[in-house]
Amino acid sequence: MGGSIIIQDGLVIDPETATIEKKDVGILNGVFAPIEEVRNLAGDMIKYIDASGYYIAPGFIDLHAHIFKEYTDLGIEADLVGVKQGVTTIVDAGSSGYDNYHLFKETIIEKSQTEILSFLNISRNGLCNGLSELANLEDLMTLEEGIEIFHQEGSVVGLKARMSKSVVKDSGIKPLEHARNLANELQVPIMVHIGNPPPNLQEIFPLLQEGDIVTHAFHGKKHGVINETGDMLPEAVDALNRGVRFDVGHGTSSFSYKKMKMMKEHYDFSFTISTDIYNRNYLHPVGSLMITMTKLLALGYSLTEVVKAVTIQAAETLNLVEQGTFRQGTRADVTIFGLEENDTPLIDSEGEELVYDQVLKPYITLRNGKVAYMK
Ligand SMILES: [Zn+2]
Repeated sequence: MGGSIIIQDGLVIDPETATIEKKDVGILNGVFAPIEEVRNLAGDMIKYIDASGYYIAPGFIDLHAHIFKEYTDLGIEADLVGVKQGVTTIVDAGSSGYDNYHLFKETIIEKSQTEILSFLNISRNGLCNGLSELANLEDLMTLEEGIEIFHQEGSVVGLKARMSKSVVKDSGIKPLEHARNLANELQVPIMVHIGNPPPNLQEIFPLLQEGDIVTHAFHGKKHGVINETGDMLPEAVDALNRGVRFDVGHGTSSFSYKKMKMMKEHYDFSFTISTDIYNRNYLHPVGSLMITMTKLLALGYSLTEVVKAVTIQAAETLNLVEQGTFRQGTRADVTIFGLEENDTPLIDSEGEELVYDQVLKPYITLRNGKVAYMK
């Protein structure tokens, strides 16, 4: 059971109402509760947190990261990019597959303070045997295996299919057709990574349905979602209209200011912000979820918009009801952060620099109503 806390005097960002308001936040036994109820029932047991000068939001969700440390080449420590950076929920996007999910569960999920969920790679190997996991069709998870693992493991929230040339080699679109069949049977979303073709986007988008997620949607490589003049592929427009979701998935080479700016100018849709963070892009160019959010601020999105993108929008994408909200009775995961002065240029995956005079910085992180990180 978590603690009873009143967080005082901070600026509360409520993603559901898209408002910022100075008020207190009450937590009783690990869940959000009205201040009066906390005072009446917890009395002397209340712990007070002074948040004056800081913002308070529901815990941030990063729905694309790689944290299968030691068993994959790129895995980074979960809590380092999790609670220590104000991220209370991380979704590992395809580092593990059917054959090594239990190892992932034992070594990462059960050892981390951060809540860890998983998009299970449709390759049984995940990323444990290198980064061409869909080159051999015999490695694809079967429906029976899928049913078994989704039935048993509540932390598995969807499938991951990395659909770019270096991953699929000669398999083409076949792994995604297989993923489509699995997802239909299992009733779960697919997160699709896009990159260099083949397969091309004209083959990929028609296979996606409402609730599926396209990560790296704003990459700056050739043959992306929009062309050089800012027009979106008709197949991508159709997908958005069907309810397919776009996700940033910054990564080493997958986020372009230029493409993001053009999309912002010409199209109006909501999206999620995630990092695709791992050991080799942690320092540069990704930094953290908060730095990635700051880059979106620099592109003209508002603070409430970027907070919504990592709370309520991410929770809806993952079909989570306890996360991303201040609703009374839900789990008290909280991110308290500051907007500090900044003179470091913000760099995208293409090496383009933006100057922005502020940067989001973690201050205090709560998980289940307990302090998990304090600056
Ligand atoms: Zn990734």
